[in-house]
Amino acid sequence: MPTATEATASAGLDERIRRSPGAHRVLTGDRPTGPLHLGHYFGTLQNRVRLQRLGVEMFVVVADYQVITDRDIADRLAEHAENLVLDYLATGLDPDRATIFAHSAVPALNQLLLPFLSLVSVSELSRNPTVKDEITHSRQAAVSGLMFTYPVHQAADILFCKADAVPVGQDQLPHLEVARTVARRFNERYPHPDGTAVFPHPEGLLSAAPLLLGTDGTKMSKSRGNAVALAADEDTTARLIRSAKTDTERRISYDPVARPEVSSLVLLAALCQDRRPEEVAEEIGDGGGAALKRTVTEAVNEHLRPIRARRAELAADRGYVRQVLRDGAERANAVADATLDEVRAVMGSV
Ligand code: ATP
Ligand code: MG
Repeated sequence: MPTATEATASAGLDERIRRSPGAHRVLTGDRPTGPLHLGHYFGTLQNRVRLQRLGVEMFVVVADYQVITDRDIADRLAEHAENLVLDYLATGLDPDRATIFAHSAVPALNQLLLPFLSLVSVSELSRNPTVKDEITHSRQAAVSGLMFTYPVHQAADILFCKADAVPVGQDQLPHLEVARTVARRFNERYPHPDGTAVFPHPEGLLSAAPLLLGTDGTKMSKSRGNAVALAADEDTTARLIRSAKTDTERRISYDPVARPEVSSLVLLAALCQDRRPEEVAEEIGDGGGAALKRTVTEAVNEHLRPIRARRAELAADRGYVRQVLRDGAERANAVADATLDEVRAVMGSV
């Protein structure tokens, strides 16, 4: 659960965006480490589509270089990246309105990284709770420098397009803190001659499900084998939800602090049906975990049916998906090069 301060800050940003969508710019993204899942969908994807409808300018990064932060080889990277784009398009992102691009196709992102790295200390990086958690779940024995500095790469991904709003799950909030620190220190150290700041201070935009749990009761993650993929078929979805961890109490209630696993399932059904979680819990009553899981399975399969159908249609045209990434890279490069020029100018580089 986000803290009250985090929730209030996110609600405030949401309100400001709704009042004047044209005044904001959004950056979001995902690592192409596997199929997107329900945690992504309710954690950020739905929010992205909502922001797109409001008319907010949006950049979506397929964070391919970030895959090698915690694995030796970039296994099936292009395939995963294309599948990620398919998930985006199926859930409603419109490539004519959102710039969808791969990190590796925009070299200026890596050039921003060097000055940014000079602005954070090693002890600040080592305190980052999400990096610590990801290191714990990492497949690698040693922590690479790339893993350690991962929040700073993310700062470059966000700041290159001067995004001020970042729809994310709760685990990303510490990274946003790093992005804000980098932006603030850069602006202080390299002021514009006209007194304006080069970078905005980006803030996280949380959804109603900032931390959806997986079948094992920990954060649903692509790489933890506990996720229900958006593209999974209905039988696989049913099997995975049946295997989800619950508790022994028969009465179903919505109490995220005392009963995190049960409450995450209740919330999932509620989000799919656009209802309040308390109402869903009340309806299941004394049905226990089995009834809860039946409700969740039906709700998820029904909600995802049109998305899955659209995804299957789009999957038939890989050429189109590649074109989306090429067009996105062209737009992202133009924006990134302009920012890099500005950075060079204020730093007094040649
Ligand atoms: P990996 O296991 O490879 O790190 P992941 O499942 O954590 O994958 P990311 O690509 O790291 O996915 O995250 C992409 C975005 O989705 C981030 O904004 C993250 O906060 C959000 N997100 C991921 N998992 C969840 C979840 N279980 N609940 C809510 N949001 C989530
Ligand atoms: Mg992750």
